[in-house]
Amino acid sequence: MTTALLGPAEIRALADRLGVRPTKTLGQNFLHDPNTIRRIVRTADLAPGERVLEVGPGLGSLTLGLLEAGHPVTAVEIDPVLAAALPQTVAERVPAADLTVVLGDALRLDPLPGPPPTALVANLPYNVAVPVVLNLLAALPSLQRGLVMVQAEVAERLAAPPGSKVYGVPSVKAAWHAATTRAGAVPRMVFWPVPNVDSGLVRLVRRDPPATTATRDEVFAAVDAAFAQRRKTLRAALAGWAGSAAAAEDALRAAGIDPSARGETLDVTAFARLAAHRPSR
Ligand code: SAM
Repeated sequence: MTTALLGPAEIRALADRLGVRPTKTLGQNFLHDPNTIRRIVRTADLAPGERVLEVGPGLGSLTLGLLEAGHPVTAVEIDPVLAAALPQTVAERVPAADLTVVLGDALRLDPLPGPPPTALVANLPYNVAVPVVLNLLAALPSLQRGLVMVQAEVAERLAAPPGSKVYGVPSVKAAWHAATTRAGAVPRMVFWPVPNVDSGLVRLVRRDPPATTATRDEVFAAVDAAFAQRRKTLRAALAGWAGSAAAAEDALRAAGIDPSARGETLDVTAFARLAAHRPSR
């Protein structure tokens, strides 16, 4: 079958032509398996013609998969060589595709050009995956859903429910913006270079944040404080946040939370209630 997608030979040839040597600092592990790329596009469950934001298009593996499936793509890439080469790679393989390339850092995005994307689909740079996801969900209210590939442990954390061992700051902060679920594992061999970690997919579905008089930053400050000392009871862990252990206990009781509980048992709604009762507000 002829395909627009990039296999191992095409990825190596393209990298050679561009003089690209993948760097760990930028989390550069490129997909070179068309079956995995099609699986990601299918699993993303996009509406026909829906505009996608892709962070880190790299050599274009996933970008081509999205474009081939008929999705306009806005791609944000931090590496100038990769960003500059992408339009030509796409023009050669999916002519007339609707692609906008933005050279930039997904952690510090300027307003995006063109129509706002409603879905995020990305094989993320693993070292900054959580801040990128949180930053984009906060900065781009147009995003309604997403499917992101991240390190397997991060996938677990992002999708963890309260009470689970890996539930923590990323789980609660992601839950502020979206319902998160795991959407499968991805083997190491589909990347070049082969990473030394496992990978997993996480589905994000936007939802309204919990109703509270506290701001998002105030809620996140309570979350950070509760998990900074996650083995302690909330009464002790939140002493600094509230001014004293007694003040923390009062705030917890006012929010209907047992002061002897630990942060890992609270869902985002409970953190939202708690933040509204911080004494210094
Ligand atoms: N999507 C491509 C694929 O699947 O083959 C490449 C994925 S690779 C894991 C991550 C990509 O993100 C690289 O192209 C890297 O240069 C880019 N990147 C790293 N940090 C970034 C940032 N802060 N903002 C935007 N892109 C970034």
